[in-house]
Amino acid sequence: MTQFDLTDDQREIQELARRFTADAITPHAAEWDEHHIFPRDTIRAAAELGFGGIYVSESSGGIGLGRLEAALIMEAMAYGCPSTSAFISIHNMAAWMIDSYGSDALKAAYLPDLLPMARIASYCLTEAGAGSDAASLKTKAVKDGDHYVVTGSKQFISGGGENEVYLVMVRTGQEGPKGISCLVIDKDMPGVSFGAQERKLGWHSQPTAQVNFDAVRVPVANLVGSEGQASPSPWRASTAAASISVPVRSAARSAASTKRCNIPRTASNSANPSPTSRIPSSCWPTWKPSCKPPARSYMPPPSK
Ligand SMILES: Cc1cc2nc3c(=O)[nH]c(=O)nc-3n(C[C@H](O)[C@H](O)[C@H](O)COP(=O)(O)OP(=O)(O)OC[C@H]3O[C@@H](n4cnc5c(N)ncnc54)[C@H](O)[C@@H]3O)c2cc1C
Repeated sequence: MTQFDLTDDQREIQELARRFTADAITPHAAEWDEHHIFPRDTIRAAAELGFGGIYVSESSGGIGLGRLEAALIMEAMAYGCPSTSAFISIHNMAAWMIDSYGSDALKAAYLPDLLPMARIASYCLTEAGAGSDAASLKTKAVKDGDHYVVTGSKQFISGGGENEVYLVMVRTGQEGPKGISCLVIDKDMPGVSFGAQERKLGWHSQPTAQVNFDAVRVPVANLVGSEGQASPSPWRASTAAASISVPVRSAARSAASTKRCNIPRTASNSANPSPTSRIPSSCWPTWKPSCKPPARSYMPPPSK
């Protein structure tokens, strides 16, 4: 059996991310969600810790860590706000793609602003007809001299309309996964436009919108790697790590509520604690003021 444990350095990184989350994310997350606030300042503060280029190489200005460290950081931040953690995770993936596969000129043009998150990057893969089946994407890039002409539309893009840089998966070749390339497209290139912000259940701290490309002329120099090299989805590990924090925090909150109410745990009330279980409904925190809320930051801000 393989024994798996974190190294001292990894624990330190995890602790740093947890402290940042407790100080800068958790106390504000409910307000961000309720009022649809995109916390750009907090995101930049995360970048000051190096979280804008976690696995970007040190030679390019990143902090040169690995995917495991990135997953630890995303997991820690998701404990405060999954939506903000996922947003930062996507930016990290985009910066890493430029660092790993971009030309020196492309790195020089984008990384100095992306690492401090002075400019933020989106990753554009999903289309209306290509979600899980990402390899069937249709957004097309046709070469015309020293430009590609890009036409199509991307759906559910985190940062859509707000971010300055878009790494867009486009079809330059055959059908299927082998005909896909990645282009870096700026928000202000002529022909780029954005749909309305998506209506979501939660996840309101991040803007999410359709991104449209109407014959956008993109320099060939903005190709990341070579034609056909783009992978439909390399960010699943960080997303999975961030997702773990959602049930973990829910469990912690439930445990805190049960403890506060001072109800002895029994087989029947701990397995399925609902108002109809053996815990008297009068003691559930939302309904009885004498049961204090778990922590201020867990609750919506008081109405004005
Ligand atoms: C808040 C938010 C932010 C997002 N941000 C981004 C982003 O920044 N960039 C980006 O590119 N995308 C983004 N997405 C899109 C996300 O990656 C897609 O929603 C996801 O890939 C699933 O695609 P879909 O919504 O079209 O679902 P579908 O592909 O329609 O799938 C719906 C369900 O059917 C299941 N399913 C699909 N096909 C099969 C099959 N053949 N057999 C069995 N089951 C199947 C799926 O597992 C899923 O449970 C975002 C989405 C949301 C909600």
